Formats: sequence, structure tokens, C-alpha cells
Amino acid sequence: MDLSFSPEEIAFRDEVRAFIRDNLPADIRAKAGRVAHFDKADVVAWHRILDARGWAASHWPREHGGPGFSPVQRYIFMEEMLRVPTPEPLSFNINMVGPVVYTFGSDAQKARFLPRIRSLDWWFCQGFSEPGAGSDLAALRTSARREGDEYIVNGQKIWTSTAHVADWMFCLVRTDAAAKKQEGISFLLIDMRTPGITVRPIITIDGAHHTNEVFLDDVRVPLANRIGAENKGWDYAKFLLGNERTGIARVGLSQGRVSRAVSLACGIEGLDGSLTDDQGFRRRVIDLEIDLKALEITALRIIDRQRRRNDGRPDPASSVLKLRGAETQQASAQLLLDAAGRLGAPLDADLAALGGGFAEAQGAAAIHLGARAATIYGGSSEIQKNIIAKAILGL
Ligand SMILES: Cc1cc2nc3c(=O)[nH]c(=O)nc-3n(C[C@H](O)[C@H](O)[C@H](O)COP(=O)(O)OP(=O)(O)OC[C@H]3O[C@@H](n4cnc5c(N)ncnc54)[C@H](O)[C@@H]3O)c2cc1C
Repeated sequence: MDLSFSPEEIAFRDEVRAFIRDNLPADIRAKAGRVAHFDKADVVAWHRILDARGWAASHWPREHGGPGFSPVQRYIFMEEMLRVPTPEPLSFNINMVGPVVYTFGSDAQKARFLPRIRSLDWWFCQGFSEPGAGSDLAALRTSARREGDEYIVNGQKIWTSTAHVADWMFCLVRTDAAAKKQEGISFLLIDMRTPGITVRPIITIDGAHHTNEVFLDDVRVPLANRIGAENKGWDYAKFLLGNERTGIARVGLSQGRVSRAVSLACGIEGLDGSLTDDQGFRRRVIDLEIDLKALEITALRIIDRQRRRNDGRPDPASSVLKLRGAETQQASAQLLLDAAGRLGAPLDADLAALGGGFAEAQGAAAIHLGARAATIYGGSSEIQKNIIAKAILGL
């Protein structure tokens, strides 16, 4: 097993690091690590800079407009961005719907959608979860009935991240109510401007408007916007959810939080720096650094296995990365908040304008509260444990 980077991979890491240093706009850099979510404008701006370099669609092969990165390059690329952290190329476009379109879409769909998905001219959101269909996604009930050359869609989606700023939604709908639940599902692309769509905000505990409810009432969707065969949507969704796992450990993000927590603990205006003498705090920093090193090595082992297998299939061991990655994201965010103390408590970003310690500690509470969701979205921790028990431990 080879867990070290080759000289070419190290040169690539240095190239990515230098590109971020030289090209990340100053206003976005100023927010790095201080906000739970970047604004749409920041995500679009950075995405376009990466696209101009040919790197935005980091997962895509060259033939579809991607850079053709190897799994190791993809890992290095993502971790370098998370370490800052920069905004990430929009996952809904790049990791999720893009690969579905170039793998299962028609030539006309590829020509129409792929360039706009890659460039972020069209921002996609993910309409999968429904009330009563989250972990058990195949229980979804949103229906699509055929009428001429259209589907008439009715139902409700929930927790739809960024639906309020999205141009399109990729959506799972039930097209055959009589079939076994996994067999009656289709995969549609829905223009968010279509009459009959209502988006209602869900404001989460971190004070953010990131998630939404989406109501679909007699929404007309052309048959031409269905990807692949009718009633085969579950296959495409499984493929998509497998891709969602790539880079899920987010080691760089947690490492950045630990570093920031240590620098806050060393003393900022309004805090005396005595936390660095606290044995309990020191122990937590060391434990987290050990956990992050173990997670990094686990991620590299899984990549090495993928590199040697080279069949593009997701590895069930990536559930370990999701499970432990989410837990360390939470632990590092908790450490950051504890280091920031009362100065990090305000959710109101305007308090940072007071300067001094408030500016240094900005965002700690929002990041901590936002991280609570990491063990839920993208497949909850309990579901990952079920996969690990079955597919890895053979229980
Ligand atoms: C911040 C955030 C953003 C999200 N963004 C999106 C999005 O953009 N698009 C989208 O489609 N969805 C999104 N989701 C939804 C997310 O995918 C679901 O919340 C997740 O799949 C869990 O489903 P649920 O909420 O219905 O909980 P449930 O499935 O009802 O689970 C409730 C509890 O029961 C446990 N549980 C369920 N089944 C089992 C089992 N078989 N064995 C053991 N324990 C079990 C779960 O682990 C959980 O603790 C988002 C969620 C959050 C929190």
C-alpha cells in the first residue's frame, strides 16, 4: 500500500496552493473560516475563477469539460481548498447532477445542460428528501403523472439546500405508484421558475437561511427533462449518492478549525490566553490532531484502493470517512467555540464590526451550530454504521 504522494502529486499540491494564494479574492479570504456558509455571490465568483483555470469540474473527465484529475489529485485539490477554507465548487452541480447527466443523459441533454452546470450559469439544488422520506429515501411520494409530452408533478420536498437561490432542481419523483418502491422512481430536471413551485425558508439553529421546503403543485415538466429511462431513477440516484461521498472526510476543514482555535486560545483582545495552560484544552487539541491524522490516513488508504481497482465504483469504506469526518467536524467546531468563549457567541455578524476580539472570534457559534447537521445530511451517522456493519464487518 502506498500512502505517500509521488513527486508529481506534491508538485500538483504546491500548484493548487499557489493558485489559491494568488487568486482567491481578498473579500472572500476575509470571510474564510468565519462563516458557516459562503453567500451565493462568493461561491459563483470563486467557481468562475476555478472554471477559467479548467478546475471547477474537478470530478469530471476531460471529454466532458473536466480536468481529468486522478482520485489523488481530486483529494489534494479539495483538501487544499478546505484548509483555507475557500468556497467549494458547487457540489450539487459538480459532484451530483453533472456526472448523472454525462453518464445517463441523452446527447441533447449533455449539450444543453453540461456547459451551464460546469460554469454555474445554472445553479442546481437537490430535491430528494421529503417529510417521511429521508434515510428511507425510496419511500418518497412526490408524484409525476404523464400528460402529452409533459409530466404533472405534485408533492413536497424538504431540507432543500439553496433552493431559494437555485435556477434548477434535480428531483426524484414517483412515476409508478404500483411498482416496488425503488422501481417506480424517475429523475427529473425542473426549472425553478416553472409555475406551481413555492419555496419556503427553513431558518436553522445557526441563524442561516440555507435550507427550504419546496412545494410542487401541478408543475409541468417536459418529458425531455427526464434523465434516462422512466422508473429507473433509483439507479441514477444511487450512482449520484456514491459520488456525493467523495472527499466527505473534510480533514482540511477540521484542521483549519483546530489551528484557529489554538490561535484564539493563545490570546486575543478580551481573552487572557490562560486557556493554553488548561490541561483539558491541551488534551482535546492533541486528541483531535491524532484523530485527524488517522482520518487522513484512512482517506488515503481508500483512495489507494480505488487507484488500484480503478472501476469508478464507490467504496463502502467511505462510510467510515463520512461517520468519522462528521464527528471530527463537530469536535473541531466545538473546540473553536470554546476557545472563542463569550466573544464567539454572537450569531449576529455585525458584532464583528466592533473589531478587536469580536472580529477575531467571528462566526464561532454559527460554525459550531451549523456543524451539528454534519451527522445528519448526506446520510446520517446511524445509516453509515448500518453500512459499515453490513458491507465491511459482514454482520
Ligand atoms: C442542513 C441540512 C441540509 C440538507 N440538504 C438537503 C438537500 O439539499 N437536499 C435533500 O434532498 N436533502 C437534504 N437534507 C436532508 C437529509 O438528507 C436528511 O435529513 C437525512 O437523510 C435524514 O433524513 P430525515 O431527516 O428524514 O431523518 P430520518 O430518516 O427520519 O431519521 C431520524 C433519525 O432516525 C435514524 N434512523 C433512520 N433510519 C434508521 C435505520 N434504518 N437504522 C438506524 N437509525 C435510523 C436517523 O439516523 C436519525 O437519527 C439536508 C439535511 C440537513 C440537516
